[in-house]
Amino acid sequence: MLRCMGFRCAAIGVLLAVPVVSTVCACGAAPTVRKMKSIASPLPVATPQPSPSDALAMPVPPPERDINCMKSKCIALTFDDGPGKYTNLLLTMLAKHQARATFFVVGANVVESPRGLLLRMVREGHELANHTWDHPSLPSLPPLALRSQLRRTQEVVMSLSGVRMTLMRPPYGATDARVAAEARRQGLAEVMWSIDTMDWRDRDSSLVARRTLRNPKPGAIVLYHDIHPTTIYAIPRILQGLERQGFTFVTVSELYGERKPQPGARYFKR
Ligand SMILES: [Zn+2]
Repeated sequence: MLRCMGFRCAAIGVLLAVPVVSTVCACGAAPTVRKMKSIASPLPVATPQPSPSDALAMPVPPPERDINCMKSKCIALTFDDGPGKYTNLLLTMLAKHQARATFFVVGANVVESPRGLLLRMVREGHELANHTWDHPSLPSLPPLALRSQLRRTQEVVMSLSGVRMTLMRPPYGATDARVAAEARRQGLAEVMWSIDTMDWRDRDSSLVARRTLRNPKPGAIVLYHDIHPTTIYAIPRILQGLERQGFTFVTVSELYGERKPQPGARYFKR
């Protein structure tokens, strides 16, 4: 008989119900190997482990910030396709600048990652958002599969972190009226981007930083993938550069403030 407790039950249940995928595609990219064991990287990749007292506790986010993106120069950095082995280091980099970001997580990667990573994101004020269960192109899916891609990810994130996500991003940016209708049914706004750093294609930190810093407009939503070490390397330069230009780093929900993204509607920038 299978015995499990608390969140582990939920995670195991999901693992049993769904074959674990070993590959996940980056947005717009050809399929990319999820586990990058072959890539030699000097980046430290330790991830936080939950203490025994974390086993059942849900993380408490920090208080909401008093930021008005109508008046302040705001920018929303967004990270797709994780969590991955470099995400913890990214969180440390963001914390040094009091930067909050939005993580469009893939459900299959959530259950493969240490739960501590998800807890840390929430505790440090980042926003969790839905990037489907295993990254298919949604318009080609039959109705039940489309529903399940979003719902299963909602459920696993809720069971591990207590967070009900309100934003989704369709893999490859591929969407249509049917996807929008399903997003609306599940209470999810569709969030695209206004700056594409093409970091999945060009694994070049300087290029990724330059594409962000070239001419960022207040209200921009910037697309990255936190599964690529070259992207993580670019982040300190990006944070410093944008800070010098007077930007505040906000989550997508902070970016829109009282003009809350509406389920089923599509957003590219503020
Ligand atoms: Zn993606």
